[in-house]
This record gives sequence, C-alpha cells and structure tokens, in this order.
Amino acid sequence: MIYGYNGCDHLEPVLEALLAAGNRVDPHPQVTGPFRPSQGGMYCPLIDAIDFAVIADIPRVPDVAFDPDDDAVFCHSCWLPIYGGENLRRSREAWERATGKPFQPNTDR
Ligand SMILES: [Zn+2]
Repeated sequence: MIYGYNGCDHLEPVLEALLAAGNRVDPHPQVTGPFRPSQGGMYCPLIDAIDFAVIADIPRVPDVAFDPDDDAVFCHSCWLPIYGGENLRRSREAWERATGKPFQPNTDR
C-alpha cells in the first residue's frame, strides 16, 4: 500500500513494484499522492525511466497496457497513465521545440 495513493486500484501494484525497485515519483508541492492533476487529467510522473523487467510478471487487469516504446503504463479502464522519466523528458523537449521557450514546470495545478 502506497501512502497517500490517489490513483486507480489497477495501477497501484505496478507503481508499488517500480518504487520498490528504486524509481521515485517526481514530487509535487500541493499533492501528497503519486498522481497529480493536469489539463489532460491525472497522471503519475516518475523520475527514472520505467524498468519493464520489474513489472513484466505482475498480475494485472487486461486494461492495463505496458508501452515500453513510450516509457508509459496506461490504465484504459480509468484513463490514468504512469509516465517514466524518459517519456517526460521527450515531452518537455517536444514542447520546447514547438514553443521555442525553455520548459517551466507549472506547479499551480
Ligand atoms: Zn484503473
């Protein structure tokens, strides 16, 4: 059981295994649980890339999809993603290319 867990039941064992293996949730100043709000809905940002070998054998519902190419795990039942650090780094770079500005994290939401 993850303290303050605020995601869906389907993703908790996956996240628990990733954290036990050493990954960390990128902290948010206003949110205690691992998931945080955004304009696109709730998501869980991890600092390191997702180690899919760690979660390969975890029993999970069919709606939980592993996407190593995207460095993400997604619950299609609840529409909740866990993003690895590599996914978030690519997103920030794409945003910077598109806007021509340095990425500034918005901690207000
Ligand atoms: Zn779910």
